Amino acid sequence: MDTRSKDDLSFLESVDLSFNRAVSLLEVPSALKEKIRICNSTYTVRFGVRLRGTIYTFTGYRSVHSEHMEPVKGGIRYAPNVDQDEVEALAALMTYKCALIEVPFGGSKGALRIDPKQFEEFELEQITRRFTYELAKRSLIHPSQNVPAPDMGTGEREMAWIADQYARMNTTDINANACVTGKPLNSGGISGRVEATGRGVQYALREFFRHERDRDRANLTGSLSGKRVIVQGLGNVGYHAAKFLQQEDGAVICGIVEHDGALYDPSGLDVEAIYQGLVRDGGLAKFPNAIIGPKAKVVLEEECDILIPAAVDSIINLSNADRIQAPLIIEAANGPITAGADEILRQRGTVIIPDLYANAGGVTVSYFEWVKNLSHIRFGRMQRRQEEARHQLLIDELERLSAATSASWEVSPSFKAKYLRGADEVELVRSGLDDAMRIAYQKMREVWHSNAAVDDLRTAAYLVAIDRVVKSYRAKGL
Ligand code: NAD
Repeated sequence: MDTRSKDDLSFLESVDLSFNRAVSLLEVPSALKEKIRICNSTYTVRFGVRLRGTIYTFTGYRSVHSEHMEPVKGGIRYAPNVDQDEVEALAALMTYKCALIEVPFGGSKGALRIDPKQFEEFELEQITRRFTYELAKRSLIHPSQNVPAPDMGTGEREMAWIADQYARMNTTDINANACVTGKPLNSGGISGRVEATGRGVQYALREFFRHERDRDRANLTGSLSGKRVIVQGLGNVGYHAAKFLQQEDGAVICGIVEHDGALYDPSGLDVEAIYQGLVRDGGLAKFPNAIIGPKAKVVLEEECDILIPAAVDSIINLSNADRIQAPLIIEAANGPITAGADEILRQRGTVIIPDLYANAGGVTVSYFEWVKNLSHIRFGRMQRRQEEARHQLLIDELERLSAATSASWEVSPSFKAKYLRGADEVELVRSGLDDAMRIAYQKMREVWHSNAAVDDLRTAAYLVAIDRVVKSYRAKGL
């Protein structure tokens, strides 16, 4: 969706610019730089579906940016104005994101030009199945070649249709379920995938606040507790990020901006109640205190500690960048800040945690789901009870020693309960995600603070990612 002002670069141009800025700091032959930058292929498909007594023609895309690792990975977006440039920008980001977060995938992205709100569920199913057929017959959906996931306008439901359609077309493929991630738990999904991108945003912020030097760069002190947060887009990513930050870290969500209006209260908003209202009404406009019309967007410019754009690209652009007051922006959405706005914000000292890192939680847990599908067993199934039994041995021994020596200490019941519980799948997924987010952040900040030519986290993130892609290509002889 294009929300930028007329002087802004496009989303794809902004991604290219970030790439070029970073790659200019690396000693890489220019031909290889160009090979990495360009999108390998984009398939455009137009297909008809018979609906409501007539034939509707839809346009879909699947871009493959880089196949230095396979399968390639990236979500499928349903949006009314999506175009080839947007999909190619998103596919490029996927390449760098996967490299940065260390998941073994190349970058891809898909989209269908559709406003899903205009269709009934059974119609969307027909459309999704047909789109899947078109992509799968060209191996653009395939467990070992190209594995989609949810993105804007799609979720578990669409992923379940895609998986089922693929399985119908490949009846003897034992790994058919690994053709797509983000599936519901009862159709081969993994616990914790729905929340993963928002959870990743939370873990990213926690890691940022662990480093005093980084907090200082944004003139912030202390922890996430009490920090004032404004979120744009209360969809999958924005809702989970806001909810976890509010409920688990004590952050104050003071502003929420949606497509049709905004809510603002410096003393804090009830994220869960607002989300339930949003789901019920399809927007925020019906809330009694809603700010509607052009003023809604201005909520992004209110004073706060952390701004979380979690909706569409190019929302912070040349028309509003100099009025954004947040000292820290975390790009939960892909490409929410245009290159021009990025320049303005960087010069003002705003710290930006870039999209290719900030929203990598989704693809990280997608990777776990794909591994789970290929191994055909849920995480923790073999170890959990054995782990509990070993912990029980230790507790029994401590209690025996305590009784034998008439010691004055005993194992507290709450410690015992926590220690005895073996980790289930969602705990393992969260642990793996937290680890991935921490390691990638530490790698990024190392470059940020050690390379005098790097004054922002975005360039640092691109540098880490591009360096890894270069090494992959070199290993292949390019
Ligand atoms: P979603 O469709 O679940 O939610 C998007 C939300 O943004 C909706 O509530 C919508 O009403 C709102 N919105 C749309 N236009 C808006 C506007 N102009 N102003 C304010 N709000 C607006 O989508 P999502 O999955 O949460 O994705 C959001 C962003 O996060 C996208 O950029 C997507 O590429 C990125 N992302 C998503 C995932 C994932 O796992 N879902 C992973 C990585 C990145």
